[in-house]
Amino acid sequence: MRTIRTPAELLEAELISPERLREAEAVAERYAIAISPAIADLIDRTDPNDPIARQFVPHSAELEVTPEEREDPIGDLTHSPVEGIVHRYPDRVLLKAVHVCPVYCRFCFRREMVGPQGFGTLSPEAMDKAFAYIAEHREIWEVILTGGDPLVLSPRRLSEIMQRLAEIDHVKIVRFHTRVPVVEPDRVDAELIAALKASGKTTYLALHANHPRELTDEARSACGRLVDAGIAMLSQSVLLKGINDDPDVLARLMRAFVETRIKPYYLHHPDLAPGTSHFRLSIEEGQALVASLRGRVSGLCQPTYILDIPGGYGKAVIAPGTITNTGDGCYAISDFRGDSHAYPPEA
Ligand code: SF4
Repeated sequence: MRTIRTPAELLEAELISPERLREAEAVAERYAIAISPAIADLIDRTDPNDPIARQFVPHSAELEVTPEEREDPIGDLTHSPVEGIVHRYPDRVLLKAVHVCPVYCRFCFRREMVGPQGFGTLSPEAMDKAFAYIAEHREIWEVILTGGDPLVLSPRRLSEIMQRLAEIDHVKIVRFHTRVPVVEPDRVDAELIAALKASGKTTYLALHANHPRELTDEARSACGRLVDAGIAMLSQSVLLKGINDDPDVLARLMRAFVETRIKPYYLHHPDLAPGTSHFRLSIEEGQALVASLRGRVSGLCQPTYILDIPGGYGKAVIAPGTITNTGDGCYAISDFRGDSHAYPPEA
C-alpha cells in the first residue's frame, strides 16, 4: 500500500463514498491530503464518526472559514528573523527545515504552510543562514525541529543537521516534533535513530497523537526503540471535537502515552486555522475535560492544557484554576472530586 494522496485514491480505498468525491476534490484544491498505509489500516470504514478518519479524511466543513480564523494562527511569520527560523521565546528557536508531512491533519495549525503548495524545503543557502542565526544568538539553548514533520527527511539529511548543531556549543537540547512513530512506524529504524543522536546533544522527541487507537503495537514498538536508544519522549495532542473530547478517551490516550514511556506534555486548545471550526470546542468545555483527568488518572498522565495566543504572543496555560484567594491570607482550594477546602485549614 502507498500513501493515499488524491480524492480518487480515497474513493478506491473506501475512505469516502462516491457521493463525497466532489466534496473531497473541492477540499483537495485548497489543502493537501496524505493518509499513510498505517493510518488507512486503522480507520474503521463502518463507523461514520471514526475519530481516526475525522483527523485525516477531508470534509467539506474545511471550506467554511470563520471571521476569527487566520492563515498564520500562532504568528510564526511575526517572529521569523530569517527563513526557516521562528524565534518567539528567548532561549529557544524553531527550525523549520521542511514543510512536508507523512500525513496531513485536517485541523493543522500550519495548513497554509505545509504540503505541496506550502513553503517546501529550505534551500542550502537558507539553511546556512538559519544555522548562522543560531550560532550568533548565544541565548539559544534549545533548537526545536518542526515544520512540517522533520522525520520525513532522510537519515543522511537529519544527520547533517545534527552534526551542524553539534558545532554550536550553546545549543544543549535538540527537540523533534513528529507524527512518524505513529503514522510510519517502520521508518523508525537503526539508521534514523543514529541520525537523531548524531549531535551528541540531549535529544527529545515530542510525539503528536490525539486518540488512544493511534498507539498501536507497531507505534509502541517504534517509540520503544527510540526510548531504548536514550531519546526522551514527550507527547503533544490537540483537544478536538469528535475525536478526543471525552473524559474516557482522553484518559486512555494519556495512559497509552505513559505506558509507552512518553511523558504527557502539551494538550493544545485548537488554533484558529482556516476551515477548522468544526473541530473547536469552547475553552470551558476544554477545562471541564482537563479537570476530569484529575483524580481519574495518575499524576504521570496529566498534560498541560495550553492555548497559543493568536498573533504570536506564545503559549498560555489555560488549565482550570483550583485555588481562589478568599482574603486575609486564606484560600479556597478544590480537590480532585471538586470539593472545596480552606487553606490554611481552620485551627
Ligand atoms: S503533522 Fe503537524 S504540521 Fe503536519 S499536517 Fe499534521 S499538524 Fe500539520
